[in-house]
Amino acid sequence: PDLITVQELAQRMAMRSTDLIRELMKQGQMVQANATLDADTAQLIVEDLGHSVKRVSESDVEDGLIAEANPDAERVSRPPVVTIMGHVDHGKTSLLDALRQTNVVEGEAGGITQHIGAYQVKAPDGKLISFLDTPGHAAFTSMRARGANVTDIVIIVVAADDGVMPQTIESINHAKAAGVPMIIAINKIDKPNVDPNRVKTELLQYEVQVESMGGEVQDIEVSALKRMNLDGLLEAIQLQAELLELTADADRQPYGTVVEAQLDKGRGSVSTLLVQEGTLKRGDIVVVGAEWGKVRALIDDQGHQVKEAGPSKPIEILGLNGVPEPGDQFAVVEHEARAREVAEYRARKKREKANAATSGTSLEQMMAQL
Ligand code: GDP
Ligand code: MG
Repeated sequence: PDLITVQELAQRMAMRSTDLIRELMKQGQMVQANATLDADTAQLIVEDLGHSVKRVSESDVEDGLIAEANPDAERVSRPPVVTIMGHVDHGKTSLLDALRQTNVVEGEAGGITQHIGAYQVKAPDGKLISFLDTPGHAAFTSMRARGANVTDIVIIVVAADDGVMPQTIESINHAKAAGVPMIIAINKIDKPNVDPNRVKTELLQYEVQVESMGGEVQDIEVSALKRMNLDGLLEAIQLQAELLELTADADRQPYGTVVEAQLDKGRGSVSTLLVQEGTLKRGDIVVVGAEWGKVRALIDDQGHQVKEAGPSKPIEILGLNGVPEPGDQFAVVEHEARAREVAEYRARKKREKANAATSGTSLEQMMAQL
């Protein structure tokens, strides 16, 4: 059932909450501003007060926002999207930095110093790989909890001198639960007296049998610090990606997921998006979570303005009217009115949820009682 808080209802009738509470009191209802009313009760009150009611349901707003895939469309191969996970200090950040440097043009302005939530690297075969450079676990789990399965492959970094540790196991479990194939990167092999075989044996306990032990999971020995065998890792990713046969329809209505977003002093709302299907273009009207806007600029991971971004491409966009959340979906729509309708509906839902949470009874609890 649809629920609305007294506060929200008052706001939509352009009246003060206290006045609405007084009206309700006249009808024998003692409520506070953050109390929730069901849709039928709300409708009666609204009509009593001489307003007309137009009920909008979730499906009225959300259905068809992202069009069904066209089964006859030509699908082109797309780069894999990779997340790096592993125990703290095993070298996730070092590995991401080392991989990124394989791709930075010498002396390029901007480039490597600025943090970016996702970037692409060229594998030795010339094909691209997209890396999500977000605090691995948090991003992966929160995105997944919100139904955004953007990761195609998980790299699990295990430091050869430390072996399998609690967050290694956690990462393995996340990858398995998500049904995402993993590649084991045994890191820090530059250190004296380390034994990668010990790591491989330990992994067996967690039902991860690596290729060099006769299993199916690819394992690569690397040193992020000394930049050893990074090409080997990129090749392993490419091999895995080929097995997955990742494709997308670059010509369809675009959609994808927010990787990160923030408010920038000079540029306003800046969001890093990962395009999943279609091609996002400058000037497109987008709904992103509870925000919307016209894409004013697209900036790639090298800091260059581009006109469009196709499948698996991470891209920064400017032009949103607010800051969305990581894991939010974006969709391109035809008209501003549609974008505004969806964004406002979602913003209202969010407010209602927040209000219900602070009023002591959660929306879920209320629903369970109804
Ligand atoms: P994270 O917590 O997984 O992101 O790990 P970091 O990338 O921050 O690395 C933790 C520490 O391990 C840092 O002091 C790195 O310099 C060091 N480290 C990372 N990779 C290597 C490596 O391949 N070899 C050696 N010897 N040290 C490394
Ligand atoms: Mg780190």
